[in-house]
Amino acid sequence: MPELAQVADPACPPDGVIIAVGASGVCRSDWHTWRGHDPVVLPHIGGHELAGVVAQTGPEVTNWRAGDRVTVPFVCGCGRCQYCLAGNAQVCPEQTQPGFTGPGSFAELVAVHAADANLVSVPDTVDFVAAAGLGCRFATAFRAVTTHGRVRAGDWLAVHGCGGVGLSAVMIGAALGARVVATDVAASALDRARELGAEFTVDAGAADPAASVIEITGGGAHVSVDALGSPATAATSVRGLRRRGRHVQVGLLLDGPTPIPMDLVVARELEIYGSHGMAARDYPTMMSMVADGTLRPGLLVGRVIGLEDTGRALAAMDGPSEGAGMTVIRFPYG
Ligand SMILES: [Zn+2]
Ligand SMILES: [Zn+2]
Repeated sequence: MPELAQVADPACPPDGVIIAVGASGVCRSDWHTWRGHDPVVLPHIGGHELAGVVAQTGPEVTNWRAGDRVTVPFVCGCGRCQYCLAGNAQVCPEQTQPGFTGPGSFAELVAVHAADANLVSVPDTVDFVAAAGLGCRFATAFRAVTTHGRVRAGDWLAVHGCGGVGLSAVMIGAALGARVVATDVAASALDRARELGAEFTVDAGAADPAASVIEITGGGAHVSVDALGSPATAATSVRGLRRRGRHVQVGLLLDGPTPIPMDLVVARELEIYGSHGMAARDYPTMMSMVADGTLRPGLLVGRVIGLEDTGRALAAMDGPSEGAGMTVIRFPYG
């Protein structure tokens, strides 16, 4: 069981900042790290979905100062390579990830590298608990639905798997005017999907979900997201597309190569995308939709806990989330 301990304050990188954490989400990726699925150097501090206040800036930082309210993508780019300079820090080969490549936000203070490239301003109207989810699940879903999916009003959007990313995709799709079909094996997750804007839901355990999506949408979804990440949901997502539809793979396929029905990809001219977080540069569009209430990530929060409860919250993730909502640690100054 993870322990709460007093450790030395993190050192501020020359190009980075120290953030006083106001809130941190507890994500399934943290659970994977704790369970040893991602190698990290022990002892380790997890946590990568954070929002807070800049407490200290390195000498090379020009755009930020102490007191700024900020969040960061879970993938922080180096800010210097060809990918970062082209605006694609989410695939930076030199990326750092608080909570994975270094100590994370299950702590009062966390260091972030390349601050000018990675920090995102959080408006005063967005509280830290709501903002904590933007770095990971919500931003990931936003990029999947908007950049890759290019969802427009009236499009059919299928979302497979209604965990944190899936429910975020449901909310974002509905806010953009798409007609959303959500699938999951858990009735409670489908209930949440309906509350967050899904027009139809499909019990993925009871029927062939791809056939159900095709029937509901009159020929298949324009855009389909595998938010779970399993060989079954990936293939189902592709099979449920209409001609020239777009599949976006968001759920991590941790078990290696995954069969995709490429015969359908050719015959129906489908597009297949992988989606991995979202670069800080792309946040302002999403953040303005959060600030004006079009998107409400706070609705995805299920439980607010204290830092001392983090270990138990991680341990409780040993199983399907079933639409219970995101657990967020609120810090005293959050
Ligand atoms: Zn996460
Ligand atoms: Zn880079």
